[in-house]
Amino acid sequence: MTKSGKLLARARLMEQNESLFRCPICHGEIKVDEGKSLLCTNAHRFDLAKQGYVNMLTAPSKTKYDKRMFDGRKMMNEAEFFEPMLSRVSEMICQWQEAASKPKVTLLDAGCGEGSHLASLQERVGRQVQADVLGVGIDISKEGVLMAAKNDDANLWCVADLAKCPFADGAFNVILSILSPSNYAEFERLLSDDGILIKVIPDKDYLTELRSVFYAESDRREYSNEQTIELFDHSFELLKQERVSYSVRLNPVQLEYLVHMTPLSWGAAEGQTEQALDLGISEITCDFTILVGRKKNK
Ligand SMILES: [Zn+2]
Repeated sequence: MTKSGKLLARARLMEQNESLFRCPICHGEIKVDEGKSLLCTNAHRFDLAKQGYVNMLTAPSKTKYDKRMFDGRKMMNEAEFFEPMLSRVSEMICQWQEAASKPKVTLLDAGCGEGSHLASLQERVGRQVQADVLGVGIDISKEGVLMAAKNDDANLWCVADLAKCPFADGAFNVILSILSPSNYAEFERLLSDDGILIKVIPDKDYLTELRSVFYAESDRREYSNEQTIELFDHSFELLKQERVSYSVRLNPVQLEYLVHMTPLSWGAAEGQTEQALDLGISEITCDFTILVGRKKNK
């Protein structure tokens, strides 16, 4: 597809789904205007960028994520680093769809980064269920969303603030929060009454090989997700809690990307990153807990 053809297709997809949106400034309804921008009833306008995403931030933001980190995450996805975890999440969405039998499933990835988790899940679920499956990815990092839009044509991508999501109440059947912070008040508002929230968090052995280098002398060496689970359980009705652990073989290039994409390395002292790479680690432990919840009292 040519660049302008791609953009037109994206505008059409947005038009077909304009009812999902609401203005992040005035909460008014949104329509696609001339295939070029999203326009609310009070004339707040958000242009479709030529790469095919919409920036709906109401104030500029600075994030710690840079392009190198997102390149790293994309590469780790290609190395199937997240594969067993994503496969399990996909099964959970399919199970939900089988029970709910919706003609259309809307997925929100809240904190989509460079988009590869959502693109992969939308594709898997779409293959397995008798329903249209649309993914919408948001992230506060323009860098990430731009990569997502460049790499994927099937879903919608927005730069947006998790605290001011530019979407209508109950717009989504499934909300995904994968290794990313949550805003439970917004999740509650955005999730349909029969929908599910799926949150993936690290469990205690996640990246244990790196943790022992970066946190060798610190009490952060031991990681616990108990507080995160408690908060989830406090905000949503916890339906399922499942641990997924496995190890992945990495070549040195992949290991280098992993080291740079992990927040573990952000506060690292000089030399620690190199030290981690010099150790010649070839297997890395992935250890996640998947939490599934629904709205309380529904
Ligand atoms: Zn508005």
